[in-house]
Amino acid sequence: MARQVNENMHAAHPGMEDARIPVALVACADYQPDHVYDALARAIFLLGGLDAFITPGTRVLAKPNLLQGLPPERAVCTHPAVMGAIIRLLNEHGCTVTLADSPGAGIRYTPKNLLKQYHGAGYQDLALDPGCVLNLDTGFATVKFMEGKVCKEFPLIAPSISSDHIIVVSKAKTHVLMLLTGATKNLFGLIPGLEKPLFHSRFQTGERFGDMLIDLNLLVKPTLQVADAILVMEGDGPTSGTPRHLGVILVSPSPLALDMVLCRIMSLEPRDVPYLKCAIERGLCAPDGSDLDLRGDPLSAYTGADIRKPGTYMGSHRGMRISPLFRAMHRLGRAYGLRPVVETVRCTGCGKCATICPARAITISGGHALIRLRTCIRCYCCHEMCTEGAISLKRTPAASLVHRVMTWDK
Ligand code: SF4
Ligand code: SF4
Repeated sequence: MARQVNENMHAAHPGMEDARIPVALVACADYQPDHVYDALARAIFLLGGLDAFITPGTRVLAKPNLLQGLPPERAVCTHPAVMGAIIRLLNEHGCTVTLADSPGAGIRYTPKNLLKQYHGAGYQDLALDPGCVLNLDTGFATVKFMEGKVCKEFPLIAPSISSDHIIVVSKAKTHVLMLLTGATKNLFGLIPGLEKPLFHSRFQTGERFGDMLIDLNLLVKPTLQVADAILVMEGDGPTSGTPRHLGVILVSPSPLALDMVLCRIMSLEPRDVPYLKCAIERGLCAPDGSDLDLRGDPLSAYTGADIRKPGTYMGSHRGMRISPLFRAMHRLGRAYGLRPVVETVRCTGCGKCATICPARAITISGGHALIRLRTCIRCYCCHEMCTEGAISLKRTPAASLVHRVMTWDK
């Protein structure tokens, strides 16, 4: 990858001697392009300016929340005026910008579909800027991350690998599975199209999914985080909630720091957000926000909104009810995804796979391994572990057919 992996998302950035992590909040009442530009420029200035983070002349990936191409007033995607402002600032800094995201699961990751989502979200005019390209490259590659706690490799969309910097430009929303989607969760969009359900299938609980998101952020290490909280979504986000005006933009070098502040603004307890709970338990951020350095407008101006929670929220410290959407994603992942299959002629019956299997889905019988696919959680540890090459990963014939149809024009 063009960027280096850091151990800690709170790792110091150039020009920041203070160990606390800065988060800038700047009021922005509406999406008038000049208002957004001024607010964003001020927020970045409060952090030391773009020079503190980004070398002029480099290639930057601006990563919006492009869940699906829905109009800005629905508050599903990052507003085009916020994308336009960050692109303008980066161009003025001498950088070239690629806007890229892989939309939500169920949307085939093809150039035609990307164009449709760009148009739907109102991004098409951003391509008129000679310093900005809307990504149509649907290639991806697998990147190893042996330091990951629960995930040792990720398939990542091509521009995220070739860029010098990634700026995450998220949309603040409540979320039926993760309670909050802001900076940290946004990076899941770097996983291409139909690979996403497989991740939902492999990381089934909020905690495991949360740890996977933390691993992904530690691998990719975005340079800067911007959150569009001018119009947020409350209720059953990320798609079916209700837009709500809050009128603020946030910027930070750390996704966790930004999300900790978003929790305060969105009336959420950080430990109720699975990935923040994981981050707190991994020692990556302080539960009380004592490691944050707030700059700009006072946080108290934005904390009284009493944002409506999703219907899946069961109350503080009680977690999230598994939503029908998540069940559907899980089923899709299991039906479509690769499953481990034992090649009995190669299997020596050594039992190493049975020992490592976290789901206890493998037994040794008749001198070779047997896998109970109903119990298997598709972590693929057995495939990694078997030195005999006796566990292959295969789709069912029906899933192979679906896969061919879904990827035929790549
Ligand atoms: S590790 Fe490989 S060879 Fe050993 S029992 Fe499992 S499948 Fe068979
Ligand atoms: S059978 Fe293999 S892929 Fe399935 S849970 Fe066990 S180790 Fe993971």
